Amino acid sequence: MATTYDAIVIGTGQAGPSLAVRLANSGMKVAVAERKRFGGTCVNNGCIPTKTLIASARAAHVARHAAEYGVNIGGSITLDMKKVKERKDAVVHRSNDGVEQWLKNTENLTVYEEHARFEDARRIRVGTEVLEAGKIFINVGGRASTPPLPGLDQIRYLNNSTMMEVDFLPEHLIVVGGSYVGLEFAQMYRRFGSQVTVVEMGKRLIQREDEDVSEAVKTILENEGIAIRLEAECISLKKHGDKFAVDVDCSSGDKAVFGSHVLLAVGRIPNTADLGLEKAGIKVDQRGYIIVDDQLRTNIDGIYALGDCNGRGAFTHTAYNDYEIVAANLLDGDQRRVSDRITAYALYTDPPLGRAGMSETEVRRSGRKALFGKRAMTRVGRAVEKGETQGFMKIVVDADTKAILGATLLGIECDEVIHSILDIMYAKAPYTVIQRAMHIHPTVSELIPTMLGDLKPLD
Ligand SMILES: Cc1cc2nc3c(=O)[nH]c(=O)nc-3n(C[C@H](O)[C@H](O)[C@H](O)COP(=O)(O)OP(=O)(O)OC[C@H]3O[C@@H](n4cnc5c(N)ncnc54)[C@H](O)[C@@H]3O)c2cc1C
Repeated sequence: MATTYDAIVIGTGQAGPSLAVRLANSGMKVAVAERKRFGGTCVNNGCIPTKTLIASARAAHVARHAAEYGVNIGGSITLDMKKVKERKDAVVHRSNDGVEQWLKNTENLTVYEEHARFEDARRIRVGTEVLEAGKIFINVGGRASTPPLPGLDQIRYLNNSTMMEVDFLPEHLIVVGGSYVGLEFAQMYRRFGSQVTVVEMGKRLIQREDEDVSEAVKTILENEGIAIRLEAECISLKKHGDKFAVDVDCSSGDKAVFGSHVLLAVGRIPNTADLGLEKAGIKVDQRGYIIVDDQLRTNIDGIYALGDCNGRGAFTHTAYNDYEIVAANLLDGDQRRVSDRITAYALYTDPPLGRAGMSETEVRRSGRKALFGKRAMTRVGRAVEKGETQGFMKIVVDADTKAILGATLLGIECDEVIHSILDIMYAKAPYTVIQRAMHIHPTVSELIPTMLGDLKPLD
């Protein structure tokens, strides 16, 4: 016998809990299934713990450079990695527990701490029970992918989840993968005091960014003593005494990198293979992402997919925005759509990269007439005062409509500054609105109007 609900939410990542509570508060009888830890990736082994660890790493970095600011600390800077992890665990626990209590204390909502699997398009098995509902919301997220690299099965390696248990300082961390997750860990561990090598298959780091961004981020990391091996097309791994060897056979440099620990950061895959989607007839694409329309509906009536598992975003804010879109359509009569949102994300290296809209490369490829502005952080007073002048800001504007097409800000505070541009883009206002705005001095943001006042045609 199935227990009947109005709605079932599978997964408690960044969309599921808010949606479940909204539905329950609207009077619906709601079931939520979570097979692991409440809060999903972001809370337990993604954004929150990594940014907490990055804060410890930055504290160490600032302390090491204190003398440059006239501050004498005396003695060498050492890390208590157990304390670093304890601090991270406390922050994670607060969030994770918050989500659990929120769900368990919401009226009309029942929590099942089980793996959920479709029996058919209306019924879900959770452990020994079967639940039934006319509306089912899939928010199962993703996990680190493990590519079939030669030798990987012979060694012990880390990924973003197992990194969360590390409470010691690796002597030499080899990070396989030179993109967002890998680079954040690379800089973090370098600042903790490890030797770090990043091994990347491609010709450059963070390949979805413009070439000048990849190059600048590489320089920033190399300036801190991180070794970077690009074009490592033939990565294989093996044990080498009590260490590990990663064969890279790159076009230049040593053929192998020897390290004490290996972190695999080579992309993510959706948690959709063990959901019984085929029993419900739900379609996925070639990479396993659930196919959804602009309002996050799957091909089966009444079934929606939100967050990383639908391949329409790979961030906490895109997953949360998915919840807002579904709730607006179902409960508010507000026809919000995925296509309404503007690309936005940050890379939390230090200095961070803030991105909004199209990159310079994408604008060039589009062939449209555009205006372009770029400013080195060495010309930003606030950055000079802080002694943190690495990076640059650049912006691309449509020459005809004056709409901002995109911005790439790599520099101190740029994960925050990008929002002044993002909000103008959402307001669909011309760039001249920001150009004429009076910003506060001294800030990084005050240079945005200056940069916009000095646009040149994008040749
Ligand atoms: C190291 C790292 C750093 C990151 N940093 C950032 C950042 O700074 N900013 C940012 O925006 N994004 C960041 N992300 C990405 C972000 O964490 C994800 O985009 C976000 O968590 C996606 O949320 P979600 O709701 O789609 O799924 P998830 O958070 O992955 O949650 C899915 C949940 O579903 C559960 N589940 C799965 N299958 C089942 C099942 N069959 N039955 C029951 N439960 C199930 C899982 O246990 C999990 O709890 C980072 C990711 C990583 C790995």
